[in-house]
Amino acid sequence: SAANPVPIPAPGTAPAQVPADTYMVRIEGLRKSFGDLEVLRDVNLDVAPGEVVTIIGASGSGKSTLLRCINLLETPDAGHVWFQGSDLTADHVDVNRLREDIGMVFQGFNLFNNMDVLANCTLAPVIRKKMSKAEAEEVALGHLRSVGLEGFAHAAPSTLSGGQKQRVAIARALCMAPKIMLFDEPTSALDPQIVGEVLEVMRGLARDGMTMVVVTHEMEFARTVSDRVVFMDRGVIAEQGDPERIFTAPEHPRTREFLSRYL
Ligand code: ADP
Ligand code: MG
Repeated sequence: SAANPVPIPAPGTAPAQVPADTYMVRIEGLRKSFGDLEVLRDVNLDVAPGEVVTIIGASGSGKSTLLRCINLLETPDAGHVWFQGSDLTADHVDVNRLREDIGMVFQGFNLFNNMDVLANCTLAPVIRKKMSKAEAEEVALGHLRSVGLEGFAHAAPSTLSGGQKQRVAIARALCMAPKIMLFDEPTSALDPQIVGEVLEVMRGLARDGMTMVVVTHEMEFARTVSDRVVFMDRGVIAEQGDPERIFTAPEHPRTREFLSRYL
C-alpha cells in the first residue's frame, strides 16, 4: 500500500488550490485498507458550506473510516481530502491547526471524566486557541445553555445521563467554533427514550446553518434534517441524493435492500 501517495510540490510550486467557497470538504479518489481489507475504494464526496450530509449504510461498509479520513484520524492510502481549499493529505499541512476547525462527536462521548463539564469545554480553547480561562468559560456557558445544560457546568461527567453526556460532547466541540461538525453515530449508545434530546440539538445546529456530516441509523433524522443522503456499501458510495428521493425511490438494489430493514 502507498504510504504517501501525495507528490511533494517542486520548490517554488504552489500547492494546488481549489476555490474554497464552492465546497467545504472535497474528497477525491479516497482509498483506505487495513491489511488486506479494502475499506474505502475510490470514494468521492463534496460537502458544501451549510450543507447537512447524512451517511447511511450497513455496519462495516466504511462509514466511520470515511468520517475519520476527513480529519485524518485515519491516513488515506490514496486520494485527497480538501478542507476549505487546503489538501489535508499534503505534507506541508498543519493538521492540528486544521483539526481545530473540524468538530467531532463520537458514539462514546469521550468526555474527560476527571474534570467537570465546564473544564471539559474550556480545555481545548485555552490550550489550542490560547483563550483566557474567563473568555473560554463564557463561551462554554453559552454553548452549554444552547444544548440545555446551563445548570450542569460543575457536574462531574459520571453523574450525567448518556443524553446529557452527548450534549456536553456537542457543546465542547462547538467551543472551538468549528467550521464543520462530524458526527459518528452519536445516538447509537443511547437508550431509545433519550435519543430524541440529542437529535433535537443536532436539528437546531442544522437549522442554524452548521455544515454537518452525520453517520447515523436514525432514518427519520436522515430523511427530515439532511440536505443529502449518502448510502455506503462495501467501501463505495453506491448512491446519494435528495433524502426524499433516496427514501421513496432508491435506485440501487443495495439501497433498497438496506432501507427495507427500516421500513
Ligand atoms: P462502519 O462505520 O460502516 O461500520 P468502519 O469504517 O468502522 O465501518 O469499518 C469498515 C471495516 O474496516 C470493518 O470491517 C472494520 O472491522 C474494519 N476496520 C475499521 N477500522 C479498522 C482498524 N483500525 N484496523 C483494522 N480494521 C479496521
Ligand atoms: Mg462506524
